Amino acid sequence: MTKPEYKSGSWKKRKLKVPGGNVKTHVKRVRPKSAKCGVCGKPLHGIPRLRQIKFRGLAKTQKRPERPYGGILCSNCMRKTIQKKVLQI
Ligand SMILES: [Zn+2]
Repeated sequence: MTKPEYKSGSWKKRKLKVPGGNVKTHVKRVRPKSAKCGVCGKPLHGIPRLRQIKFRGLAKTQKRPERPYGGILCSNCMRKTIQKKVLQI
């Protein structure tokens, strides 16, 4: 019987034929999806695709780009947002 945790969708299952001739199921953690821009939905660069437990071990500078709206908006949307805010004043 499979472990209850392996029944979750966050584990990828693959059937392999082992040298003895038997078929065994190998399980592997699924990589999380990339972070998306809050406006256009494009995948963000500079953000590692890691599970939370590994993400926590990183330095703050490795988690998101160091610019305004870094890790929330892509560079194009950031530029447009800042231009809009400047024109409103
Ligand atoms: Zn965007």
